[in-house]
Amino acid sequence: MTTKITRRDLLQDAGLISLGLGITPSAAAAATTLGADHKPYPPTRTGLRGSHPGSFEGAHAYARDGLPHPKPQSLDESFDLVIVGAGISGLAAAYYYQKRFGPDRKILILDNHDDFGGHAKRNEFHQGGRLQLAIGGTHNLEYWQFSETVSALMQTLGINIPKLRQQTDFNYGRNGAKGQAIWFDAETYGVNQLVTGCSLKGPPSTSPLPYLDQFPISTTAKTQLRAFYQRQTDVLADLSSAERGDYLHTTGYFDFLESKGGLGTEARQLFKTACHGSWGLETECLSVAEALDDGLPGLNLIGEAAAESDWDYPVGIFPDGNASIARLLVQRLIPSIAPGVTADTIATTDFDYSQLDRPQNAVQIRLQSTVINVEHQEGAVRLTYLFGGKAFALTAKRCVMACYHSVIPYICPTLPAAQKAAQRYQVKYPLLLTNVLIRSRAPFTQLGIDGAACPGRLHSALFLMNGVETGGYAQASDDPGPVPVTFWGSLSPPDGIENFWDKLRASRTRMLNLTLEDYEREVRSVLQDLLGPAGFSAKRDILAITVNRWPHGYSHEYLDLWDEDWPKGEAPHEIARQRFGNITFANADAGASAYTHTAIEEAARAVAEFDAPSLD
Ligand SMILES: Cc1cc2nc3c(=O)[nH]c(=O)nc-3n(C[C@H](O)[C@H](O)[C@H](O)COP(=O)(O)OP(=O)(O)OC[C@H]3O[C@@H](n4cnc5c(N)ncnc54)[C@H](O)[C@@H]3O)c2cc1C
Repeated sequence: MTTKITRRDLLQDAGLISLGLGITPSAAAAATTLGADHKPYPPTRTGLRGSHPGSFEGAHAYARDGLPHPKPQSLDESFDLVIVGAGISGLAAAYYYQKRFGPDRKILILDNHDDFGGHAKRNEFHQGGRLQLAIGGTHNLEYWQFSETVSALMQTLGINIPKLRQQTDFNYGRNGAKGQAIWFDAETYGVNQLVTGCSLKGPPSTSPLPYLDQFPISTTAKTQLRAFYQRQTDVLADLSSAERGDYLHTTGYFDFLESKGGLGTEARQLFKTACHGSWGLETECLSVAEALDDGLPGLNLIGEAAAESDWDYPVGIFPDGNASIARLLVQRLIPSIAPGVTADTIATTDFDYSQLDRPQNAVQIRLQSTVINVEHQEGAVRLTYLFGGKAFALTAKRCVMACYHSVIPYICPTLPAAQKAAQRYQVKYPLLLTNVLIRSRAPFTQLGIDGAACPGRLHSALFLMNGVETGGYAQASDDPGPVPVTFWGSLSPPDGIENFWDKLRASRTRMLNLTLEDYEREVRSVLQDLLGPAGFSAKRDILAITVNRWPHGYSHEYLDLWDEDWPKGEAPHEIARQRFGNITFANADAGASAYTHTAIEEAARAVAEFDAPSLD
């Protein structure tokens, strides 16, 4: 089970080089993966990605832990605008700045990662001469929530949502011939058991009620669950409409399951990690209203019924997720990186990373550059960043902070205390996305599934990543060849932590402390035990593993149980994003909403704020 991937397995193609086994994670991170033309090409790197080794240690040591800054070398470069963070918000800010102030304005974008896109990253695998794409972070476009600003940018980038929809036959593991599935593992439940046709969180047609006998749990827990699913009542019937709303928003979902649903600890635990992917949180952190809204069961106890159509989630998606949006933005800013690319070819077009940081271009993107200090000065902004273990300083006229907000107080110590407190408040929700390339989807097909919830495991769900034939990519859902399996979720903090923020920090620490071998052992063991009965061999059939850790994941969206209902203008994100001299603040955090469209809107706002007279 724990057999490691051999060099032979790895030597499939030039693109798939380092899984990091047999070499230390830092050596794996340092290894430069080369594209077909021998230029550095980060999307093909495997092993620990997302917050990869080398991307966060500088910020932790110098910014967070207060290590004295090394003396910076002053650079003789001058920019109109420096942007901290090459995520979608930072890239969009560069686009809006050029649009507003002219295409010749010199812009530098700094990011601590070895690839651009922030959360919107792609994982590439190359097997048998074929490109296999997987999502490394940000998944999809919730286009029905787009504002005019966002729709206009999508149009500029040539993104046609109806066409994306037409080219997509993918439903997050819900398309298996036997429907959805729950996989109970022997380590947690004493026996490996796949139950098909039902889900823990889904439309009425997937209710687990007819399948409870197959669940490897105690008779008591089964009896409780049966009664819970069967009951049709309104336990809040005595309450006024206001009291009802109050109850649903101030009561924890797990308390509701216990007190109104009659579920004991064992039965409740089934739902413990069910919201890891959608929220990045333990289900116990959600109110009744939030959990029901996320599709968890219980509407039948408050006199309501779930509708099948609530589960139609018709997103726009590329095979590498919103990395395609980041790539389209970068190409617009630096056309020579991929001349002539369009939204119809974006997923399969090579990007020439050597074009990213060239002084002759109006926009330069400098990777592996961690900003550790930003100071507003008279008519300018002075920045210090780390690159290759050395510190460099430069001056620009203006700065957009498009990084996540909780790091900003450490980088901009001269901000007003209230603004820094508001930024510190915005702790993000951790997410984990591990892509495993397997030799064939055949074992999934044989079992009649294309994904499963895994309530006992580190990742709470997994699904096959195929059927997204957008951006010029072709990988049909019945393609018999190699295919990525995406393990999706967050990481539970240790039990017994009460404080919500402490839970998030503990989960984040755990995510960074687990080694590549830990993650590898986990996904090998799950795939072997789940698919083994259908002829799968982890030793033979796993071709590559890429673990995308996002300890600073979803933006802190306000929660019923933990956040106040602030008056307009007084919420932490509204205080955190206030302009400070020549510095403005973007990022999805600035909208307290973990979406790509928010990241874009906040970029537009942050740039528009430069229209107002400078505060200095
Ligand atoms: C796994 C995952 C799945 C998601 N799925 C979806 C989805 O399906 N749909 C959706 O709309 N949204 C999704 N999101 C939310 C996602 O956060 C946003 O959509 C969007 O990508 C955020 O962009 P951003 O530019 O605001 O932030 P980020 O992508 O976080 O970019 C900020 C960048 O700043 C960098 N930075 C931080 N500190 C420094 C420093 N000191 N110096 C230099 N650089 C720094 C960061 O490392 C990062 O690269 C998902 C997020 C994650 C993590």
